[in-house]
Amino acid sequence: MSEPTADLREWVAYLAESGVQELRIEGKPGPLDVVREELGECTRCKLHDGRTKIVFGVGNPQADLMFIGEGPGAEEDRRGEPFVGRAGKKLDEMIQAIGLSREQVYIANIVKCRPPNNRDPERDEIEACSPFLKKQIAAIAPRVIVTLGGPATKTILETKVGITRLRGEWAEFEGIPVMPTFHPAYLLRAYTKENRMSVWSDLKTARARIDDPEA
Ligand code: URA
Repeated sequence: MSEPTADLREWVAYLAESGVQELRIEGKPGPLDVVREELGECTRCKLHDGRTKIVFGVGNPQADLMFIGEGPGAEEDRRGEPFVGRAGKKLDEMIQAIGLSREQVYIANIVKCRPPNNRDPERDEIEACSPFLKKQIAAIAPRVIVTLGGPATKTILETKVGITRLRGEWAEFEGIPVMPTFHPAYLLRAYTKENRMSVWSDLKTARARIDDPEA
């Protein structure tokens, strides 16, 4: 960021001397803000009944890499942020392993409210919520999407094929390359060398494509 000019410094000093205690800079809402606004205090599906907070998504609105998970758990519901529980810690490690930070990527889910008892989101819930996810993808326009686990992969790729068959192979969503991989919660449950190597390989492949779209 560049240094403030002398004029700006003088102006701020003048405002402070005049008793101004707070300045708010209100920019034009970005495309993601518009999606958030359209979502509102959503009651479009039954999941709104049990939620504490809507978990919209987090990260860089211009991220090159977007992760899509399944739905908020208890901790995410409480904090209003995706992937902040145990699976989130694992996801953070996965992101760091490819030389990126949580702030550099964007993270969202196929449903924005917590399914009760962490069950899989149901079809009507996904249908109500995924239009907003799709608008988020359009607003961010990432170079690569990584889908985490079966439900996210099935939703984005509109397929019934299981994650074990789809992971590791490039697919596409509206012209954006999609790399399906295992969900970090699954990885924690089935912490085998083979599963860890698979996820590592998928993430490395995704990272290479970000750095070189021809890869
Ligand atoms: N699992 C998900 O799929 N999403 C979250 O936000 C947290 C856990």
